[in-house]
Amino acid sequence: MFSYRHAFHAGNHADVLKHFVQVQLHKYMNQKDTAYTYVDTHAGAGVYALDSVQALKSGESEGGIARLWERDDLPPALAEYVDLVRALNPSGKLRYYPGSPWVAEQSMRIEDRLRLFELHPADVKLLDQNVRKLEAHKAEQGERARGRRIIVDRADGFQSLKALLPPPSRRALVLCDPPYEVKLDYKHVYDAFNEALGRFPSGMYAIWYPVLQRMESRQFADRLKRLPAKEWLHVTLTVATPGPDGTGMHSSGMFVLNPPYTLEATLRETMPYLVNVLGVDSGASFRIETGTQQTGALAGRVGLQGAGAPAARAGAQGAAAPAGRPGGPGAGGRPGAQGAGPRIPAGNARRASPLSGKGSLRLPGQPYESPARAQDEDKPSGSQMDPVKREARRKFYGTQSGAAGSGNASGNARGSRDASASSGPGRSPARPAGGAGGSRGPANAGSQGGQATGPRKSFKRSGPGRG
Ligand code: SAM
Repeated sequence: MFSYRHAFHAGNHADVLKHFVQVQLHKYMNQKDTAYTYVDTHAGAGVYALDSVQALKSGESEGGIARLWERDDLPPALAEYVDLVRALNPSGKLRYYPGSPWVAEQSMRIEDRLRLFELHPADVKLLDQNVRKLEAHKAEQGERARGRRIIVDRADGFQSLKALLPPPSRRALVLCDPPYEVKLDYKHVYDAFNEALGRFPSGMYAIWYPVLQRMESRQFADRLKRLPAKEWLHVTLTVATPGPDGTGMHSSGMFVLNPPYTLEATLRETMPYLVNVLGVDSGASFRIETGTQQTGALAGRVGLQGAGAPAARAGAQGAAAPAGRPGGPGAGGRPGAQGAGPRIPAGNARRASPLSGKGSLRLPGQPYESPARAQDEDKPSGSQMDPVKREARRKFYGTQSGAAGSGNASGNARGSRDASASSGPGRSPARPAGGAGGSRGPANAGSQGGQATGPRKSFKRSGPGRG
């Protein structure tokens, strides 16, 4: 029943896309003073050791976070995500990878609330331990929330969501990231968000999914476009051409209902870079679509894979360091810890990993020093950019307005907002295309059918902590 373990996949290209987008969603939510609730319907273990047996067996992080780890030319939004991972690894060596609950906690404010659901007995225990370590660490740093800020439940995330909506503060961000090992997960996601939108239409909902050959996956985004959300945004990242046998996960998508208005521009600025650095062959590409309830799926339908909308291509060239090699031409950046972005601890706190147990024990190795990133003062983002949009971006980013060219990447005559681009040919593959890791589960995948109806049981937070 519980065959999926995210430890096998932590830090892969799909996690990079998911968590990079997640940071941006939190950043947007943090702009308003009112506290919000983050709901993680499928939380996983919270933190993953990349030197664990599981992680080493698949080696998937090599094709994901490891490729970004040493880069000093990260686009600003990507830098915010990578800085968050770096803060978890103060020794400077990439050893731990944050799961979505950790990404959330680090991106949120002390007054915000987290509700985390996980069904796997081992992972929910690890999650609880990780949460308690984090809380102890925070308390040591003098940060204390009023009441219970993080609640971990061993419960079905699909079922549990509805009871939380609408949240008391009328502000919520929900991340839904099921294993999709069983076809039913696709239906459960659709049904859960159909209901969620009915209960709380203004919530922000982010759904991760694998882009696979199977029918359910291929039709999934089109189904989600029909959900009754006012607006949606769909982004996919493909790192390699699918093999003829259709195995392996080379592509994944994030579908955001009621997305931040800033997200599209951020993605246009960042996705070409991701394609360039994570892509393993000429099939690497990204796709961004947006739409509204009024225009429905049509708004995002235009734009063919690999056709490379001109502006998107230009953006990719701007970050054209050879894949995997640090130090290419910079897209500029800014320290990720500013403003409403993820908090990067300072001083001793910066060196102390919350994972090192209670107190500020240090992990062995050198303290992490963030690579200096140039402040990218109001770089023109293409004279074509709409002045209203530019002003909005200026406000959102403070002093910085992002890389050139990506704001007008749609490249289609109908003016619908859709862009896609393939990576440039001829980059040497750093991992075989199939290395993206088989299905999203270990060898005995596919037996999770009963999860969605599993018993709801509150997890007793009494398990022993782990160092
Ligand atoms: N969101 C996590 C992250 O980004 O770090 C990874 C989650 S992983 C892809 C999916 C998790 O959902 C697994 O740990 C699995 O045990 C759990 N799971 C599967 N079905 C579930 C359900 N119905 N409710 C809650 N958790 C479930």
